[in-house]
Amino acid sequence: MSTYKLVCPHCKSRMRIRTSEGRHIFLRVAYLQCTTEACGWSVRAEFEMTHELSPSGMPDPTVRLPCAGGELRQAALRAEPGQSKAPSEKRGVHRKGKAASVPFAPQLSKA
Ligand SMILES: [Zn+2]
Repeated sequence: MSTYKLVCPHCKSRMRIRTSEGRHIFLRVAYLQCTTEACGWSVRAEFEMTHELSPSGMPDPTVRLPCAGGELRQAALRAEPGQSKAPSEKRGVHRKGKAASVPFAPQLSKA
């Protein structure tokens, strides 16, 4: 397990999650605070589950998210554990038909 790396955009220090609350099964609202005392920036943030990358082995039929397209899968491959990168500005972009060269190809259900 790795912790989510949150960086203060002002002073580039780490931020801590002061508290968080669930708003929806896919959405959690968090209140963050910069760990540098002299900065002390505090902010509201949202963590949202947006796309399914791999199906659950214990699926709940009421849990439905759109499957990630090729571009999102490539982004997931680039986001190696342990790396700390700012979210891509292309977040949320969903294109189809570009998965041909991706090693982690989508597994389509034959049901
Ligand atoms: Zn700061």
